Parts: sequence; structure tokens; C-alpha cells
Amino acid sequence: MIQDLTTEILRLKEEKDAVILAHYYQVPEVQEIADYVGDSYYLSKIAKDAKQNTIVFCGVRFMAESAKILSPNKTVLLPAAEAGCPMANMASASALLKMKEEYPNAKVVCYINSTTEVKAVSDVCCTSSNALNIINNIEEEEIIFLPDKNLGGHIQKLVPHKKMILWDGCCVTHNKIYKKQIEALKEFYPGAKVLVHPECTEEIRDMADFIGSTGEIIKFGTEDSSDKFIIVTEIGVLHELEKRNPNKKFYAPDNMVCPNMKKTGLEDVYNALKEMKNVITIDEDIRVKAYNALNNMHLLGR
Ligand code: SF4
Repeated sequence: MIQDLTTEILRLKEEKDAVILAHYYQVPEVQEIADYVGDSYYLSKIAKDAKQNTIVFCGVRFMAESAKILSPNKTVLLPAAEAGCPMANMASASALLKMKEEYPNAKVVCYINSTTEVKAVSDVCCTSSNALNIINNIEEEEIIFLPDKNLGGHIQKLVPHKKMILWDGCCVTHNKIYKKQIEALKEFYPGAKVLVHPECTEEIRDMADFIGSTGEIIKFGTEDSSDKFIIVTEIGVLHELEKRNPNKKFYAPDNMVCPNMKKTGLEDVYNALKEMKNVITIDEDIRVKAYNALNNMHLLGR
């Protein structure tokens, strides 16, 4: 059955001149069918430069919308139309505009995990892998950072000379991990290094041997000489880590599952391509404004 679907998806991909992108948090079979698998920053670069006419984005809505913002002439499909990001929905453009009035000298940096409307009223976007670079490359001292208070708090510690005004948002998946869960895993797997995503709380980040984006966690787990690791980010990254490192062991808290990232199955990819459905559309006025913030990310994040 999976083989049939895979064959059909590959055939449709050629027929529709499509490229399939998948985030590391997707289920393994979707990662396997994708042309490119990566974290938000990597995938946004691929989407920007894609040669194909159609982009199938296996991820959540803000990712597919970012691809459409960057490539307005392409058809962008989100196979699971209902896959959203609760954190992105924690910030609204109207509330951000009010905050900007309170801090007129501040630059606004929005995490790519935000709505198109929020991006449209922000100065620059960032991802967890380039946030530090971007904030260091901004001249202004005052920065409004949204929507993730955990990533913002992590960066603030690294740039004490900046004043970061943090939004009160978070990733519901990364925010719900508790210290005692990591302590239990450490006790069970003595000597394992703890690799933590910056969307986790400070209490969890303080337990880390390494803090980084999903891409950076995969790189660290692959290049480090240890043979066992506790991975504190969405469980989907285990697929790539295990594929690259068959002789190492990776353990993760079993509740680190983002239900939205797990909404896409092979059948959704097949149906989206076959019927060319779940097409992302964005009002051109908003798209152009949001493009500036995303394009600034590519310029400042280098
Ligand atoms: S893991 Fe967190 S930030 Fe990523 S899509 Fe899920 S809720 Fe949003």
C-alpha cells in the first residue's frame, strides 16, 4: 500500500512539475518521500530558489505561507490544510502594532513561526538557527521579539547589550517538558548528552550540553563522539538522527509530539498533488510586506 502510494506520488510529482519539502518533525514516511528535508531556515531557502512550478510543503501553515510569500508565482500546496501552529496563533498583527507604539525605537524581529499578518508588520524574520546572527546584525539596541518567549529569552542571555522585549507566547510542545522528565532520562541513560531546542523553557535549557535548532541538533548528534544522546525537541528528528548514525542511540521524552506536524500522511500528499488542492493564497498587499521581513532574514542571517 505504502509502495503504491509512493510510486503514485513520484509519478504525480513529475507530471505536475512539483518539489516536495518536509520538515524534520514530519512522520518518517513523509520525510522519505520528500526531495528536501530540513528545518525552517533551510526549507525557506529551498522554497525561495526552487525551479519547479509547484511546491508541496509537508509541515504547518506558516511554513507553506512563507514559501508562497517568497515564491508568489509558484503554486504552493499544504497537504494537511488544517495543520497550524498554535504558537504562531499566539500573536496578532493588531496587538503587535500596539506594542510598537509603546516602543517606537525598537526593531521588530518575528520568529518565522508567525502568521503572514504578523510578518507584514515586522522588520525582519528569524529562525532558531539564525536568530542570534540577525539580532547581532541589527544596529538598534531595543528589539521586540515574538512570539516565542523561550527562544527570545535564550537569545537575550547571549546578547546582554540588547534590550529584548519578549512576547508572551510559546510552543505548546516544547514548553510542556519538565525537569523531572529529563532527570529520569539521564538516570536511565547515564552519560548521555542532552541536546535541547531553544523553544524549551529556561529550566530545561539549563540542563543542556548543547542548545540548537533542529538542524544544529542533528549536526551535533552526528559529529559529536558520544554514542548516546537525550534529544529534547519534537520526536520526528529521531528519524534523521538514526538514519545518519546507525551506531548511536537517541532517546527523547515520549510526549514531545507536535500533533499538527503529525497531521500529514502519504495519502494527503497524494491527494494534494492529484487534485492540486489546498492551495495557499495570500493577499498581494500583505504578501509584499511580509516578503520584506523574510527577505531581510535572508540578508541579515548570512
Ligand atoms: S512544534 Fe511547536 S512551534 Fe513547531 S509547529 Fe508544533 S506547535 Fe508550532
